[in-house]
Amino acid sequence: MTPSLFLKKGRQKPILRRHPWIFSGAVERLGGNPSAGETLAVRDIHGQFLAWAAYSPESQIRARIWSWEENQTVGEAFFQERLERSLARRSPLSRAGDDRQALRLVHGESDGLPGLIVDQYGQTLVMQILSAGAERWRETVAEILMDLTSAQSLYERSDVEVRNLEGLSPRTGLVRGVSPPERVAIEENGLTFEVDVRQGHKTGFYLDQRLNRANLREFTRGKEVLDCFSYTGGFAANALAGGANSVCLVDSSGEALQRAKENLAENAFSLEEVEFVEEDVFQALRLFRDQARAYDVIVLDPPKFAPTASHAKRAAKGYKDINLWAFKLLRPGGILVTFSCSGGISTSFFQKIVADAALDAEVNAQILERLSQSPDHPVVLNFPEGEYLKGLVVRKQ
Ligand code: SAH
Repeated sequence: MTPSLFLKKGRQKPILRRHPWIFSGAVERLGGNPSAGETLAVRDIHGQFLAWAAYSPESQIRARIWSWEENQTVGEAFFQERLERSLARRSPLSRAGDDRQALRLVHGESDGLPGLIVDQYGQTLVMQILSAGAERWRETVAEILMDLTSAQSLYERSDVEVRNLEGLSPRTGLVRGVSPPERVAIEENGLTFEVDVRQGHKTGFYLDQRLNRANLREFTRGKEVLDCFSYTGGFAANALAGGANSVCLVDSSGEALQRAKENLAENAFSLEEVEFVEEDVFQALRLFRDQARAYDVIVLDPPKFAPTASHAKRAAKGYKDINLWAFKLLRPGGILVTFSCSGGISTSFFQKIVADAALDAEVNAQILERLSQSPDHPVVLNFPEGEYLKGLVVRKQ
């Protein structure tokens, strides 16, 4: 008998609205004795079927829905179909026969595959497994991915903290195919970047910023640009491609800056007007102010300060601080491109934080554009949590 999960009275509403998560507080009882990752039937208090979901005994998100169709079997054919559809959705973004393409192929819940991330870097696929359910089907998914793509390597980067919440320990390494190159060369917006899929952040590169990086070019011709939290130089390279006079990259990681330097050189940009500053951004912005520096364009792309809503308050302080100092360093008419990738900070809250920062810096500013994650990281309408990256392009008056 397939195990069941019965919801408390009246708690089926989000499920009927196709939200894919079942929180522990909504669970009345379990029928049967499911193991971690096992598929169970989600039922209302009366036993009415609602969905098939994967059981996560250790997580506050107690189950994640695979399917709302009662006649669906969650097995190999199911994953084959979901993965095929996920790849097919990317075909408008995909460059046929390009072995330097970089694209997110599977974006978890938004592709109907909760807990599964797959990124493509040329011939290398990198997968990240974030839930007990996805963990259970790891081998099946790996087989199908190799079968559906012409990838030479499938590498795993399941070394993220959220796995702890699912009771899963970290895992990295080769899953299928040959060992990926030390550096995988990719092309993004006509620029070349070398990606370290073993040691790099996330799966190696911040693919979600692809369109926002290209967008930066609109503002950089003849300008002095400050790229804060530069990582391997994604925004800096686009600032130069847009005709920036100078770029200053700030990151606390010397290794990231070294990669950034190599990436900029690889694209034949002169490094004469490029400065690399290994420093905490909170410190650097103050230091630059003391040095009476000023910039025309400032990018703030910090790491996740608030992974969940419970961290929002402290995170807000951090965001406000860097935005405040950036406003001070901007010349009149200058452009601030500011991001938050914190799931725990909503779009409207982020805008308020930036507004508060402007107020404290005693500047007036206008929003020119609102930015989000690139379309290979789609957001399913009934799962707004999928929209984690928000950005504002703001002009100081
Ligand atoms: N803009 C980058 C991605 C930024 S990721 C891109 O487009 O690829 C965040 C970066 O911030 C990482 O490189 C990390 O090393 C750096 N970082 C984290 N905390 C920092 C801090 N307090 N000061 C400076 N850099 C920091």
